[in-house]
Amino acid sequence: MDLFEYQARDMFEKHGVPVLAGEIATTPQEAQAAAEEIGARSGGVTVVKAQVKTGGRGKAGGVKLAKSGEEAASLTEQILGMDINGHTVHTVMIAQGAKIAEEYYFSLLLDRTNRNYLAMCSKEGGMDIETLAVERPEALARIGVDPLVGIDAAKAEEIVEAAGFDDDVKAEVAEVLQKLWVVYREEDATLVEVNPLVKLEDGGIVALDGKVTIDDNARFRQPEHEDLVDQKAEDPLEAKAKAMHLNYVKLDGNVGIIGNGAGLVMSTLDVVAYAGEEHTGGKSKPANFLDIGGGASAKVMANGLDVILGDEQVKAVFVNVFGGITACDAVADGIVGALKSLGDSATKPLVVRLDGNNVDEGRRILSDFDHPLVTIEETMDGAARKAAELAAK
Ligand code: GDP
Ligand code: MN
Repeated sequence: MDLFEYQARDMFEKHGVPVLAGEIATTPQEAQAAAEEIGARSGGVTVVKAQVKTGGRGKAGGVKLAKSGEEAASLTEQILGMDINGHTVHTVMIAQGAKIAEEYYFSLLLDRTNRNYLAMCSKEGGMDIETLAVERPEALARIGVDPLVGIDAAKAEEIVEAAGFDDDVKAEVAEVLQKLWVVYREEDATLVEVNPLVKLEDGGIVALDGKVTIDDNARFRQPEHEDLVDQKAEDPLEAKAKAMHLNYVKLDGNVGIIGNGAGLVMSTLDVVAYAGEEHTGGKSKPANFLDIGGGASAKVMANGLDVILGDEQVKAVFVNVFGGITACDAVADGIVGALKSLGDSATKPLVVRLDGNNVDEGRRILSDFDHPLVTIEETMDGAARKAAELAAK
């Protein structure tokens, strides 16, 4: 889960990373009130910042300096509703204005390739770090960080040395990097990025922008993170699936997919994508990933179908189950149960391929049920083709 800048700011503050005052607003009136309060600390100057989970806000006109409460209100009016890289602005943050002397860059991220963490740091931060990384890679220090040690004093010193900071800021930047490590570890982040980390005219070091990604696999031990979820942006089907503890990811196609085991579901996506290209001229594509897992009950099967049939883009469903711990008869019972409870509202064809544990019983249950929408196919390829063709009709 990516966080909004204001959420990252609050998280930084909680762990002692120096930040400036900031408050969110969703109307020009709120913005004005916040700007009058916060601006009092910085000669009336505040910054109106679009809160969207994408970079390049500054360049897109989503970060603007205001010299008064009224100006903050009118800038907020301009920025709310703005589209930044496909993200609509619903909220702004009114931040205390900073007198910037220098802009630096720092990030800490999960380096999967090297099974390590990676710190990147430059004394030339600001808006264009990607360009810097390509054109002058030597100006961006890259230092591996041992997950068991993290950024301690020695590692922080190594990073600021490698980035070539001036002597007058080295110690303070190193302090901040150690605090950012605490954020990374304590909050189970996979990314903490500060661009810019600034030196103020009075010499202080402050994180002026923050980007944090939380590891969703650690959510079970971070109950407070539930409050950070952007309810507005959550896909309603994904939310429904999550509430049912289903492993579901919405995609853009028209063939709904249910399987048991992540590997089987992944390969089912591939086979359906291929069948769609081959037999429907690319019209049919997978509509989702849904793994009902090993040992899934009839109830789980019915829940899965419920979610997938609720996707308006879905025109046909492919149920691909290899019975292991989950016996095929339980899967068949789930399909029958789901179709019975849906009654006349079931209108989408289902292609079912069952194999493995209790396959004969599973197939018998389905053929006895004899539902006009259900087609039983023997092979995975045959079923993928059938589902792709039905969805393309
Ligand atoms: P981004 O474009 O989405 O990365 O948004 P940032 O929050 O990083 O802001 C972009 C740029 O706006 C920064 O690099 C600064 O140069 C500038 N900026 C942001 N806040 C202030 C501020 O308080 N005072 C001044 N003078 N400039 C700011
Ligand atoms: Mn930035």
